[in-house]
Amino acid sequence: MALLTVEKLSKKYDSTLVVDHASFQLEAGKCAALIGPNGAGKTTTLRMLSGLLKPTSGTITFTGMKQDADIREKIGYLPQHPEFFKWMTGQEFLVYVGRLANLSKQEAENRSKQLLERVGLSESTKRRIGKYSGGMKQRLGIAQAMIHRPKLLMLDEPVSSLDPIGRRNMLTLMEELKQDMTILFSTHILGDADEISDELLLLNEGKIVESGSMAKLRQKYQTSKIELGFNGNPAEYQREIVALPFVTECYIKQNLLHVT
Ligand code: ADP
Repeated sequence: MALLTVEKLSKKYDSTLVVDHASFQLEAGKCAALIGPNGAGKTTTLRMLSGLLKPTSGTITFTGMKQDADIREKIGYLPQHPEFFKWMTGQEFLVYVGRLANLSKQEAENRSKQLLERVGLSESTKRRIGKYSGGMKQRLGIAQAMIHRPKLLMLDEPVSSLDPIGRRNMLTLMEELKQDMTILFSTHILGDADEISDELLLLNEGKIVESGSMAKLRQKYQTSKIELGFNGNPAEYQREIVALPFVTECYIKQNLLHVT
């Protein structure tokens, strides 16, 4: 069943359409990756879905939501560059966010403890956020996004700024969370989408150019062989070709990769 239905969603800055009539559905219980190169419109799309940015046109429908309800109640959002009060401890910060989300003091305290444990930070409850690593901050960011028990968790490039250990921990956490949450995350890294997601939404120049389950896309793109060189970062793309040949091929067809 579709949890979220997006129809002809567009965003224009001046005269430029940065999200261009994007339509897709998100199934309840699935983990979907919004994948595309830098500048494709991923952040703009997620910000519109989260209720932080007003679309120029198009509709966003959350199944079962009352017309006048605020979509932010249903969605938890981790921005690409989350901001914290560095002088607070993780626990203090989550209680603060919980109170902003209208939880009682007691509820906010209980929920904070549960979430710190869930994201693997319970041992750092008393540590100030200023002393957290990048990966710990991202995990705290996930906890704050979940404070109000959202139905959908949206994560903007959750692993792209992390070192290999932080990245691995975050992917493991997402793997755990997807057991009982619907997740939409953005990435420009093909391997991460392949590892974690059930569905792909491939975005280029604001348009959804391909979508579907991994199995469907694998079948569609498996036949032709790819023998290419790249003028970007060859090592990274080689790794990604191995991880996800069908998406790489799709990138090439859409001129998203520069072929030498
Ligand atoms: P992505 O997350 O895929 O890297 P973004 O959604 O951040 O892409 O950006 C899509 C395009 O919209 C880019 O060309 C970016 O420069 C442009 N853009 C984003 N925000 C603004 C803004 N506030 N004003 C004007 N242009 C913007």
